[in-house]
Amino acid sequence: MLPPHHHALVLFSGGQDSTTCLAWALSCYAHVETIGFDYGQRHRVELDARPVILSGLRALSAEWDKRLGEDHLIDLSLLASLSETAMTSDMAIRLMENGLPNTFVPGRNLLFMTVAAALAYRRNLNILIGGMCETDSSGYPDCRDDAMKALQLTLNLGMASSFRVETPLMWRDKAQTWQLAHELGGKPLVDLIRQETHTCYLGERGSLHDWGYGCGDCPACRLRENGYARFSGNPPAR
Ligand code: ZN
Repeated sequence: MLPPHHHALVLFSGGQDSTTCLAWALSCYAHVETIGFDYGQRHRVELDARPVILSGLRALSAEWDKRLGEDHLIDLSLLASLSETAMTSDMAIRLMENGLPNTFVPGRNLLFMTVAAALAYRRNLNILIGGMCETDSSGYPDCRDDAMKALQLTLNLGMASSFRVETPLMWRDKAQTWQLAHELGGKPLVDLIRQETHTCYLGERGSLHDWGYGCGDCPACRLRENGYARFSGNPPAR
């Protein structure tokens, strides 16, 4: 029996990680809503993938279809005006002097989680779920477990609420994320994630590899390819 008062909001970008989190939430909670952010991403591929994935998840399970509630798309275009990074402008992806890739948008996940909490407050949803991951996070400091735990405390103090921030992927690597998808929805869910979720930093949708679409060369594609290879038992060709 699911706890009926546990209603969840999932940060859902249209990528592999957040789609896996969404499937996980649908397996755990009686009512699940989704939130996505339009922040002037270099490519709209991820945002365009969201409704396709949502219908795909509904089609996979009658139970999930029943539990899946409203989707909210929030305009956060202010992020692009605050920071010039490779995520929001057309520049080459490289490592910066501090060791972080220049795809890092400072504080992005803190902002996303805070906006999600504000929406969750209004919608009466008490579980906030995000795909932050310390294992394969490229060192983004706002993906770390400590940052999320501190944010949960801050949100609860600042909103006089009792949110729980859950990050099911925090200690999983990409192979284990594929494995989790397989445990939650078998091959149909793995196939949906392969074909419809988007990870590539370059917005490449040209040809379908066994791990999905993408350029195969950017850091996000490599991580995804490598994880899929370890999950499926086929080591990458290079
Ligand atoms: Zn790529």
